[in-house]
Amino acid sequence: MIEYENLRKLNEPFHAEYERCFREVLESGWYILGKGVAAFEDSFARYNQSTHCVGVASGLDALVLSLRCFGFEPGSEVILPSNTYIATILSVLQLGLQPVLVEPDAATYNLDPARIEQHLTSRTVAIVVVHLYGKCCQMDRILATATKHGLRVIEDCAQAHGATFQGTKAGNFGDFGAFSFYPTKNLGALGDAGAVTTAHDQWAAQLRVLRNYGSTVKYYNEAVGYNSRLDEVQAVFLSVKLPWLDAINAHKRNLAALYLQGLKADFVKPVVHPDYYDVYHIFNVRHPDRDRLKQYLLQHHIKTEIHYPVPPHQQKAMRGILHATDFPISEEIHRTTLSLPISYYHTSDDIAQVIEVMNRF
Ligand SMILES: *Cc1c(COP(=O)(O)O)cnc(C)c1O
Repeated sequence: MIEYENLRKLNEPFHAEYERCFREVLESGWYILGKGVAAFEDSFARYNQSTHCVGVASGLDALVLSLRCFGFEPGSEVILPSNTYIATILSVLQLGLQPVLVEPDAATYNLDPARIEQHLTSRTVAIVVVHLYGKCCQMDRILATATKHGLRVIEDCAQAHGATFQGTKAGNFGDFGAFSFYPTKNLGALGDAGAVTTAHDQWAAQLRVLRNYGSTVKYYNEAVGYNSRLDEVQAVFLSVKLPWLDAINAHKRNLAALYLQGLKADFVKPVVHPDYYDVYHIFNVRHPDRDRLKQYLLQHHIKTEIHYPVPPHQQKAMRGILHATDFPISEEIHRTTLSLPISYYHTSDDIAQVIEVMNRF
C-alpha cells in the first residue's frame, strides 16, 4: 500500500533529535515562552528572510492576530479566494469582518488578480491571499491593486513554507505572513503551532502582546488579548526540523517533477513557470472522473486525498454569511481535483508506481 501520508514515517528521521530536545525542555522546567520559542522565532525569521517572526498557537490564530492589528471596523470587507481551506475565511469572521470571495485563476488555483477590482466597494479594507498547494500567488499584480486602492495584504502561507515568487519568499509580500506548522505541513510540528512574519516593528510588538493575554508585564493587561502562544515543546521540535525544510521541499519538487513528466495528458497537472518556486505541499491533478479515479487507485493500493471535497461557499457553516453564492470555477476545481502521494518519505519508486497505475486508468 502506498499511503497518502504517514506522520510517523515522516518524522522518524528526526526522532532521536526530538527526544534530545524534549529532554532539554523537561530538565529546564520552563514550558511557556522560553528560550525554545525565541530561538525558533529567530531562526524562522532568518530562514524566511523576514524582519520579525512571532510564534503563535496555530495557523488560524496567525491569521486572526494579524487581522486584529489593523483595527478594522466590524463589517469591513475582506477579499479572499473562493477556493481555500475554511480557516482563511474563519479568521475574517472571527473579527466580525465580511468575507468577499473571489474566483481563482483556473490554471494556478490561486486568487485571480484580474477579478479583484470588480469586487471592491467603499468598505473593502484588505486582501487575504492564499498560496495554495505551495504555489505563490501572482504577488506583483495583487500588490499593485492593493496599493492603488489602499488595501492591506495578509498572506496565508500555511501551505507555502519556502515557496518563492520572483525570488522572494512567501510571507514577505504583504503586511503579514501567516504560517501554520500543523503536522502535515511542509514544516510540521508534533501538534498545533503557527507563526506570523512581518516587517513592521510596531505590529510585531503588538502580536507579542495579543498572543499573551494582551500583556507584556505579567498581570498588567493593555489590550483585549488571546491565549495564543507557540508552545515551547513544539518550538524546539520545529527548530530540529527547520534546517531540513529546504531538503524536504527539494524532495517534494523532485517527486513532482516525476509526476509532471510521467503522467499522461488526460490529467490536468499543476502549471510550472520560472517566476515560481513551488513547494508542492499538495500535488494535485484534475480529472472529470475524479471519484472513479480515486477508487481505481485505491483498488491498486494507492491512497489519495481530496483538497477539498466541498467548496467553502457550500459549507453548512457559511449559510447566510456570504453575499454571493455563484463560484463555478471553484466548484469545478473541487469536483475534479485529486491529491497524489508526495510526502518526504515517499521514494521515486513509489511515485513511479503511482504514475504507472494512473496511466492505465
Ligand atoms: C492548514 C491551513 C490553515 C490553518 O492552519 P492551522 O494551524 O490548522 O490552524 C489555514 N490556511 C490554510 C490554507 C491551511 O492549509
